[in-house]
Amino acid sequence: MNSTYITTTIPYVNARPHLGFALELVQADVLARYHRGVGEDVRFQTGTDDNSLKNVLAAEAAGVAVQEFVDANAAAFTGLAQPLQLSVDDLIRTSSDPRHAAGVERLWRAVAARGDLYRRHYEGLYCVGCEQFYTEAELVDGRCPEHGTVPDLVSEENWFFRLSRYAGELRELIENGTIRIEPAERRNEVLALINSGLKDFSVSRSVERARGWGIPVPGDPDQVIYVWWDALGNYLTALDYAAGGGALDQWWTGASRRIHLLGKGVLRFHAVYWPAILLSAGESVPTDIVVHGYLTENGRKISKSSGAPHSISTGDPYDLVAKYGTDAVRWWLLREVPKGADADFTVDRLVSRANDELANGIGNLVNRVVSLIHRYTEGRVPVTTAGAPTTGAPDTSALDAAIGNAPGLIAAALDDFDFRRATEAVWRIADEANRYVNRTRPWSLAKAGDTEELAAVLLTLLRACRSIGTLLQPFLPQAASLITNQLIQNEGGFLPAPSPVFPRLG
Ligand SMILES: [Zn+2]
Repeated sequence: MNSTYITTTIPYVNARPHLGFALELVQADVLARYHRGVGEDVRFQTGTDDNSLKNVLAAEAAGVAVQEFVDANAAAFTGLAQPLQLSVDDLIRTSSDPRHAAGVERLWRAVAARGDLYRRHYEGLYCVGCEQFYTEAELVDGRCPEHGTVPDLVSEENWFFRLSRYAGELRELIENGTIRIEPAERRNEVLALINSGLKDFSVSRSVERARGWGIPVPGDPDQVIYVWWDALGNYLTALDYAAGGGALDQWWTGASRRIHLLGKGVLRFHAVYWPAILLSAGESVPTDIVVHGYLTENGRKISKSSGAPHSISTGDPYDLVAKYGTDAVRWWLLREVPKGADADFTVDRLVSRANDELANGIGNLVNRVVSLIHRYTEGRVPVTTAGAPTTGAPDTSALDAAIGNAPGLIAAALDDFDFRRATEAVWRIADEANRYVNRTRPWSLAKAGDTEELAAVLLTLLRACRSIGTLLQPFLPQAASLITNQLIQNEGGFLPAPSPVFPRLG
């Protein structure tokens, strides 16, 4: 059985979600819907990373109790499933889900039993924003490359994980494709990191520095488990890893694909630390690590920690969906963000993309075709003399090719995690179909009384629209059903009255 497990990262909940995380969610949703559509068993999982010191500091700054603060922001993240129309199967919250702490402890004990955890004194430069230590060489003018802040000097006794032991095995798994990292430049980046030498890393914090928030180290109550160990563990703990059993077998050990989606800033955690921890614990490694870039606004990263409240112009996904609709937001994320690269968001781009391709392109096509059928054949799907194409019938080869090639192109593009290329194949059909309408001029055929040719043209267009309705399903589920419903004939062979699928945005 083909079981496909698809995860997003679990974001810190120190602030409300921004469009950059919506990108990851929508990409994961498209993969989940697509793989379900071809008959695979799919589990699409997301969640929230509640156990971060960042959350504690943000709660303190807001003057709110940590659990209350974390609960409120977590709800804003998990609540994105409705406006973005995400087909989420499970979500895990690391501070409150009973499956989580028990699973994280089991993972700790498994690695400890392997002899891969040891205690030692450590001093280093720590960025709370990243929840990671930096070496001097990694800093930019003494500041965190992600946050531009000066890291804290931390000196304490911690537990360390023997990452160095797994460098060779990890390199081999990445080089032989067991762990596939997309895009290729990210794979090269990980290999370069491994080749530069992997050092053991600290996997616990003093309870004092963690402000008492987090999961205690088993057998060492003065320490809490490093939040990244805790967070990465969610991919297993939500599968009832603590208890073992069916979910773990189906979605991890026995799954044909274990696909993690993530942003480029957390690559080393997912492509180095996490597989090494899994190897140590004797578990399977992920099959696919899919890395996206950042969304920027006028070249600046849209970030939860930039401090400014989100608005429509800075990409609050709730506001954007409320104003422009789910289809427009999903379409922009899928159509304009290049594979693995950064993209600059503006409301103007979202609006013109939706108007050009959805309202004027696909929507206008479907509306035109249904309207023509109502005007010239009273809403009844025409019947032609089968197998007898009229001489001089309009050439359908370009449109036929667009329709015929689309499923294969979409499959290949999604296998390559290239959402732009995948949606391009659907768009191509609408584009060709609109050209075909303009070339064949059904209204002229009607005027000339050429009913046989008119019927053939309308049937060709109906076929194009139906294939768009089907193929659009993983990308724009709502629009796909609206289109499909417009094209279903009743028992008498009649189509419903035309009604616009996409509003024109102002
Ligand atoms: Zn940082």
